[in-house]
Amino acid sequence: MTKEAYKPGKECIKCGSCMTVCPVFQNTHMEADVARGRLAVLKQGEKDEKLARSAIMRDVLTRCLLCGACENVCANKVPAPRRVIQGREIARKRFNLPKQVQLAALTDQGLKGGLLRTGGKLAQGLLGGKIDKSSGLYLRFPASFFTDRKVIPAFTSPSWLERKKGADFSGPGLRIGFFAGCGTDHLFQQNAQALERLGEKAGLNIITVPGQGCCGLPAYAGGDRETAIACAKRNLDAFSALDLDAVATVCASCGSQIHNLPQLFEDDPEYLAKAEKMAAMHRDAAQILLDAPDFRDLLKQINAAAHGDTPRVYYHTPCHLRFGKSASSAPLDLLKSLDQRIDLIPPGGLTQCCGHGGGFNIDHHDLSLKIHQSGLGPILEQSPEKIVTGCTGCLMQFMEGVYTAERPQVEICHPLVLVDTLLK
Ligand code: SF4
Ligand code: SF4
Repeated sequence: MTKEAYKPGKECIKCGSCMTVCPVFQNTHMEADVARGRLAVLKQGEKDEKLARSAIMRDVLTRCLLCGACENVCANKVPAPRRVIQGREIARKRFNLPKQVQLAALTDQGLKGGLLRTGGKLAQGLLGGKIDKSSGLYLRFPASFFTDRKVIPAFTSPSWLERKKGADFSGPGLRIGFFAGCGTDHLFQQNAQALERLGEKAGLNIITVPGQGCCGLPAYAGGDRETAIACAKRNLDAFSALDLDAVATVCASCGSQIHNLPQLFEDDPEYLAKAEKMAAMHRDAAQILLDAPDFRDLLKQINAAAHGDTPRVYYHTPCHLRFGKSASSAPLDLLKSLDQRIDLIPPGGLTQCCGHGGGFNIDHHDLSLKIHQSGLGPILEQSPEKIVTGCTGCLMQFMEGVYTAERPQVEICHPLVLVDTLLK
């Protein structure tokens, strides 16, 4: 249970402002799908066991993207996403759920079938058993995720972390500890490669810190605090063992989890100190590059090499770069600075969550795609050649989105991959 989520004064006054921004509510128009309704049901469920075990509670807990848009507009700054996570923690304990079982299996009627169904799929193994059981991909994407999707990014073996074992970190320049995260480690290694290449050109010493693992966000968001703490301790031990100048991520979700770490250790001074230090050192990789003078020079060189071909690029801001302590405009600033090489399309269409939402995409795949497509249409009307975004979940969602919209020629990539491409 997080103390911060229940600070006095942070109570819902039922103003309804959250209804204007909640991507789920805007697609379903159901009160239980917006923060105001969720909070009311969660409160009632504390004293009503029947409600706590009902389909209504299951939906309140699972049909939230944890995007943070409601908290951002809320006059009382009610931390609705945190309270949903806390509700998931309570539900997991109450139903004694194994870690991998999706919360959508909750309810008296659905619990047994859900356990069997999900357990059976898990028993088939994920990706032929290629992914380590401690990986966030295993927790986040059970087999149903891959069987439900039309587009799956290519799985890369060996993983980025395996490839970086025994790497030499003795180079010159600021020592930047790179936190890869599971998506980059297994599915989007090109994002890490781009950071490494650009960092080298910027005179930075990019170190893929040995001993790191999953950021723990899939477990944390799913209400499995115990696993989230175990993931956090592993990473904090790994990063605090090195003398670093900064910590970089190329996945906005992993970055946000680094900022969540201190609240996992409110009663553990040793790890709280490590968590606060790591959070203070963290910045999105685009910001770290922009802070390097040599990288600014590099951007000028890229612009100077303009040759008339300026691809139309749409940038999507991941929720974890839009709201909260990990918010950053650095990727957009970076793209804006390349105005001689790309034609940056103004924001429009999907200006909110892409609809992925981690476990939401698994539990409610159709609704997840519906939310995505409602915003993707206006973007595609602007004829982008590339859609650029810096979060593993968003990347996968847009890949699925353009395929489903029969526009597979639109390239989906990370901002650093785009910059790296312009250098070639
Ligand atoms: S914006 Fe905040 S106070 Fe207003 S209804 Fe939503 S959660 Fe309640
Ligand atoms: S976190 Fe996002 S999806 Fe969840 S209630 Fe708030 S606005 Fe809606």
